[in-house]
Amino acid sequence: MTVATAIFGGTFDPVHYGHLRAAAEVAEALGQVDFRLVPAGTPPHRDTTMALARHRLAMLELALTPWPDLAVDDREVRRRGPSYMVDTLRSLRAENAERPLILCLGQDAANQLEAWYHWGELFELAHLLIMTRPRSRPRYPAMVAEQIHKRRVRTNSALMSAPAGLVRQMEITRLAISSTDIRRQLARGRNPRFLLPESVLAYIHKHGLYRDHQADE
Ligand code: ATP
Repeated sequence: MTVATAIFGGTFDPVHYGHLRAAAEVAEALGQVDFRLVPAGTPPHRDTTMALARHRLAMLELALTPWPDLAVDDREVRRRGPSYMVDTLRSLRAENAERPLILCLGQDAANQLEAWYHWGELFELAHLLIMTRPRSRPRYPAMVAEQIHKRRVRTNSALMSAPAGLVRQMEITRLAISSTDIRRQLARGRNPRFLLPESVLAYIHKHGLYRDHQADE
């Protein structure tokens, strides 16, 4: 039986071992948690994704097939319009008012929090669990820093004591892997093996994804 729900959102364009190892370590550290990876449909913070939502969802499902304790939640892909995390959290909160809800995000994403739609409401809906990421130090604008500072807790068990509103920083294995780098390697005809699961790489080749990628150059 699980006692909390954890959400890990992203574009997963494509999913890689940086995402998967982060999910595994956080899920293990939290214990009895319903852990869900949530691919964004139309992400509001970037101009476009490179692969269609159905491909990103399929790759995530392939990567997690051997690991049923890490689930894929496709609600953002199914929803029309831009994917706002606050809407996702509201819909989860509507399912259960009391259960701890934990939003997991990497340090680079946390540094951008002020740009998120209705970011202040996130604390009313969920806890934040901020995971270390290579090349990203904590750097918050004043208003976000103030919120994070006053809500900070140092243990996982503290997150289980309330439904929402707390912030925990978690040290995880630092893997300097990014989807941008993988897309760039594929566009240059290089082989990004060992940065992502074989099943995902086979899917990318089968569907001819990321071959003509020009962005981020
Ligand atoms: P891109 O290079 O396209 O921006 P990305 O590799 O950063 O992609 P996203 O899908 O944008 O991956 O990230 C989703 C979430 O996963 C974010 O919260 C991000 O901080 C986190 N994340 C991604 N890669 C890592 C990593 N190597 N270590 C820790 N967290 C990561």
